[in-house]
Amino acid sequence: MTDLIIFWHRRDLRTVDNLGLAAARDRSAHIVGVFCLDPAILDRDDVAPARVTYLIGSLQALQESYARAGSQLIILQGSPLDRIPALATALQATAVYFNRDVEPYGRQRDRDVADALRQAGIEVQAFWDQLLHAPQQIVTSSGQPYTVYTPFWRNWRSQPKRDPAPALTTLAEFTETEADAAVAAGGIALPTANDLGFHWENELPIAPGTEAAQARLEEFCSRAITEYREQRNFPAVAGTSQLSAALKFGTIGIRTVWAATEAALAKSRSDDTRQQIQTWQQELAWREFYQHAMYFFPQLAEGAYRPALQQFPWDNREDHFQAWCEGKTGYPIVDAAMRQLNEFAWMHNRCRMIVASFLTKDLLIDFRWGEKYFMQRLVDGDLSANNGGWQWSASSGMDPKPLRIFNPASQAQKFDPDGEYIRQWLPELRSLDTEALVTGKISQDERDRCGYPEPIVDHKKQQAVFKQRYQQQKLVQAES
Ligand SMILES: Cc1cc2nc3c(=O)[nH]c(=O)nc-3n(C[C@H](O)[C@H](O)[C@H](O)COP(=O)(O)OP(=O)(O)OC[C@H]3O[C@@H](n4cnc5c(N)ncnc54)[C@H](O)[C@@H]3O)c2cc1C
Repeated sequence: MTDLIIFWHRRDLRTVDNLGLAAARDRSAHIVGVFCLDPAILDRDDVAPARVTYLIGSLQALQESYARAGSQLIILQGSPLDRIPALATALQATAVYFNRDVEPYGRQRDRDVADALRQAGIEVQAFWDQLLHAPQQIVTSSGQPYTVYTPFWRNWRSQPKRDPAPALTTLAEFTETEADAAVAAGGIALPTANDLGFHWENELPIAPGTEAAQARLEEFCSRAITEYREQRNFPAVAGTSQLSAALKFGTIGIRTVWAATEAALAKSRSDDTRQQIQTWQQELAWREFYQHAMYFFPQLAEGAYRPALQQFPWDNREDHFQAWCEGKTGYPIVDAAMRQLNEFAWMHNRCRMIVASFLTKDLLIDFRWGEKYFMQRLVDGDLSANNGGWQWSASSGMDPKPLRIFNPASQAQKFDPDGEYIRQWLPELRSLDTEALVTGKISQDERDRCGYPEPIVDHKKQQAVFKQRYQQQKLVQAES
């Protein structure tokens, strides 16, 4: 028998266009996959039931891919620090392969597991797969990480991109003896999300697994991508890809996604269409910008990047936070968006910016509260993107024009002009006229009739308070 290689999956739940897995296959056909349900992740208090549901569904699809190729995906539960070396030893594996992560926990975990494996005499090989460009590849001319997006984008865009890696097709059979050894080393049947204590019954924006992700990509690139720049800001329109959960869990490879955008570019006949497509490519670069930022500045995960926001005097009123979470602030666009999050585990990007601005600038609540609530709900919840989005909205991040305050009424007038999105998610307001819905100018009688709350704060007053505190903090910083 040839060398047995264990491929450890984490956020690359596919056998197609997977760089680490393709490298393992180049070396040996004798490969077995493993996924470890890690309590250090699943026992945290910011895990969304929808995310676990997507994860488990995608693992099931991955098990089917391995079975079709003639091998298996083994499921472990427990600390990877013990479980992965125990499995590798039990199977007498020559090597463990995996794809690298950018998050502080994942990087430490990988160093620890690699040390334990090497001590046991097992080789370790790690690859960059989830990004088109590894963090060290996109740096300034003086070798520093970028802290501003536009020059990052220019550099990132100009670099050649790899083609998708070949799909895994046939593998050597995983024998019964090996399967028994895997069970003895802790291999279990794939649990359901319910078994793990996570309950999500509602529809998800995208079905789990590679097939659904691939179909979504094809559909998006055949139509909506050509109008993306115009349509992406209207939450009532299906103008974005909703591929975020697939990209978070790697049910689709980023090179496959990129190749689809390049094919769409090659087919396009006008500069306008090319610009629409390039706007979507820029979103893929935002994803990488925030992942690189997390890699180089892991302190982002703990709090504000900008000193002016590190000691900010937030109000942090629990009752206001609760109203925001439940979509009961009395501001229709904010409430509609929060109901979308609660019921659909996903929120349109324009609305993520509106509700994040509202929480921080209107309710004067620490952005970390909102960041955590998003992680507790989002199917695509991802430390780097979520933290980047929240820090941008809170004026605490790597934004060269940090002081942005969104007016909920003007946002709704501009981006939901017919009130379609608000009506979809706030059925109690469906009968109101559009002007009232989008401006939020709803009479007391109407509010009483619809059972809809009064605004919990006054936007004008609150934004003045935020600006004043922000300037004060800047002065304190300048003096210290
Ligand atoms: C406060 C806030 C929190 C956010 N939290 C998350 C999160 O936890 N996970 C997440 O994936 N995105 C997050 N985003 C970014 C963005 O809102 C989502 O990626 C997007 O709405 C997902 O929908 P889509 O797949 O249809 O995006 P599309 O518009 O189709 O974009 C394609 C892909 O590009 C990436 N992308 C797009 N915009 C951004 C962005 N601003 N930052 C980083 N990547 C981006 C995503 O992977 C997305 O799937 C957040 C944004 C804000 C303002």
